Amino acid sequence: MRVAMFASEMEPFAKTGGLGDVISALPRALAPHLTAIDVFLPLYRQIEKSNLSLKLVLDPIPVKIGRRSYFGKVWEYQTEIQNLKVYFISNYPLFGSRRHLYGKEGRDYRDNLTRFVFFCKSALMAVSALSKGNQYDVFHMHDWQTALIALYTGLLEFSKNHMPLRIFTIHNLAYQGIYPRSSFPLLGIDPGFFHRDQLEYWGKINLLKAGILHSEWLTTVSPTYAQEIQTETQGAGLGGLIKSKAAKLVGILNGVDYSIWNPKNDPSIAVNYDKNDFSGKVACKQALQRIFDLDPAAEIPLCAVVSRLDWQKGMDLILDVLPDLLEDQIQFVLLGTGDPTIEDRFLDLNQTFPDSTGIALTFNNSLAHQIEAGADIFLMPSRYEPSGLNDKYSLRYGTVPIVHKTGGLADSVIDYFTYPEKGNGFTFSKFDVQHFKRTFTKVLGIFKNKTTWHQIMRRGMKQDFSWTKAAAEYLNLYHS
Ligand code: ADP
Repeated sequence: MRVAMFASEMEPFAKTGGLGDVISALPRALAPHLTAIDVFLPLYRQIEKSNLSLKLVLDPIPVKIGRRSYFGKVWEYQTEIQNLKVYFISNYPLFGSRRHLYGKEGRDYRDNLTRFVFFCKSALMAVSALSKGNQYDVFHMHDWQTALIALYTGLLEFSKNHMPLRIFTIHNLAYQGIYPRSSFPLLGIDPGFFHRDQLEYWGKINLLKAGILHSEWLTTVSPTYAQEIQTETQGAGLGGLIKSKAAKLVGILNGVDYSIWNPKNDPSIAVNYDKNDFSGKVACKQALQRIFDLDPAAEIPLCAVVSRLDWQKGMDLILDVLPDLLEDQIQFVLLGTGDPTIEDRFLDLNQTFPDSTGIALTFNNSLAHQIEAGADIFLMPSRYEPSGLNDKYSLRYGTVPIVHKTGGLADSVIDYFTYPEKGNGFTFSKFDVQHFKRTFTKVLGIFKNKTTWHQIMRRGMKQDFSWTKAAAEYLNLYHS
């Protein structure tokens, strides 16, 4: 079986969030079970500059968008796994000249529609050229950036003889690729597709709908989120449509790549440790306190956040609750970037409590690992969370998570207060300051009891969220 996967992020080449982690790990987990898996990705500037060894395999690919012609090239990268290749699609003005993936200073690039129409069209032309006599059985698309591939495939000549099974994965329903109606000609499809049963959405174009409507299977990144997105309250305007596709919708919890996220052999952290002996975590905590210039006290709970700073992530709850605790009860460190208003509020907090807080408003992979290893408590009060990765990383690192019981967080964190026999962390059900604060305060009480705390840590560290299970579920769909 040959699979083509299409995405806009893949670690270590390009990442802004969990999508990058997934597209790095999932193909690797699938590869042993497939003849070939090829991932198609835009060639962003940062990849071009990274001296990756790339082979030019197609040049030029002409793509017409509206009245303009664009020319792409396709570059092959052979990964360390023989049957896993990455094909990068390049175009200097659209991708090679940009510093960021989607936009800067909180604003999307104005030509994102053109950029991703170009990517979808040229990726399909690449597929058609590369698969002569050796067709792909599955097309697996991820998020709105690649959703048009599902629609375009149905219109292509090659699909008349051999239609690949189309699978569309929603990583975050809040991002739908919505553009004004006036841009519709850029898509290069019949105007009849601007219809409420197609891409029309409140008078605008909605690219995510192309993926939902034109795929045989729809998946999302956790079982709970698969339920939530069928509702009016959490369906982000598409709840009814998704519910109508419920028979073809599967929630598959994202896995963790333990070759990257494992304190046992993590090269970024001060001392390695594992579930059998986590004494090394003490040194990791001290190292983290040193990085942020905090008092290297072992007894004070060190609480942490690594996150995009977005409304979704519920940082307002943290900002409301922390001032009462930072005087003498806890230390707090944050690594994140995003909404300038949230960034400013954390800088203010840091000014008020310079001795007990450390704020890093940057994107830094190695520091993310050091925080996971050094902190005692991980805070993730997301309003909604399709899957969530840092909660699962935290569990493996013995950094006990406090999470809002939603989406993928509800599928991975078991509340100790509700299930003392098997709790691996703490959850609060109602998203508001009172419920978060009450849980947080109770957790600080438990932290003082080292025997109980270590038991909770050990349970989390023992858990296995590796990709094997998720990959098996995707393979089931591929074979359907
Ligand atoms: P989302 O995809 O919504 O951003 P996830 O929890 O699924 O949230 O995944 C976030 C990923 O991005 C994790 O790997 C996390 O460590 C990483 N990450 C987020 N912000 C930063 C940052 N500022 N620096 C380094 N890594 C970050």
